[in-house]
Amino acid sequence: MAAGIRLLSTDFDGTLIGHPSDGRCIPALARALAGFKASGGLWAVNTGRSLAHAIEGLEIFHAPVEPDFFLTHERELYHRDPATGKWQDFGDWNRVARERHAELFHRSGTIFAQLQAFVAGMPDVTLIEEDGHTAGLITSDETTMALVAKGLDALRADFPDFSYQRNTIYLRFCHADYHKGSVLRELCRLLAVPAAEVFAAGDHFNDLSMLDPKVAGHLACPANAIAEVKSAVTAAGGWVSGRRFGEGIAAALAAVLRAPKKTRKKPAAVF
Ligand SMILES: [Mg+2]
Repeated sequence: MAAGIRLLSTDFDGTLIGHPSDGRCIPALARALAGFKASGGLWAVNTGRSLAHAIEGLEIFHAPVEPDFFLTHERELYHRDPATGKWQDFGDWNRVARERHAELFHRSGTIFAQLQAFVAGMPDVTLIEEDGHTAGLITSDETTMALVAKGLDALRADFPDFSYQRNTIYLRFCHADYHKGSVLRELCRLLAVPAAEVFAAGDHFNDLSMLDPKVAGHLACPANAIAEVKSAVTAAGGWVSGRRFGEGIAAALAAVLRAPKKTRKKPAAVF
């Protein structure tokens, strides 16, 4: 196993591919992913996308190898069913997550009413309705998103388990127990892979929960990552790349996978 790393957990948009971009995997990243999989490693795409949107993105991405797992919506866990070959729930995590979110959103009517009043005067904010409830929102730009997030933090003060995941101009409401970090921990539990053998890479707020040494022992982010992500990766002794998007992750992966174990915990490097 390459450098003792058994599982990659990579964000997709802004990490493996740029935005905007043609959505294709760059050659250096293709080589890194193929080499890792050839050594027996497992790859999970850990994204805010839906499963269908993630599959669509990976088809355009044209990686030389397929992910073993999709972690979608910042909380759901899928693997290929050995019998059907289709992407299916892995374990009962998704069922429990859906039940807990249905219960949370059912009793959160007050906060949704307050939210609607809060954004009523903000033409740059669009609420997203899914399955009969307000699932999230989109803003026109990240400055507006910062304002909305600040307002939401005040509104949810009385709802400790009501949270959200925020990524550029997109925000999804969720239970505080569910995020990229917790779904990755569940995958590690099912696979019996310790955090020390996990590599995680991301670029934005919704990646912070997995960019945690308790979740992944090896962390990286591309040069385009937000300051909060770079700080978290640096604090954990991870790799803050000087290159953007897939170029940065390819360089980080190559560096981490070739590094002897005893030197992998060195302070953050820019390369
Ligand atoms: Mg991203």
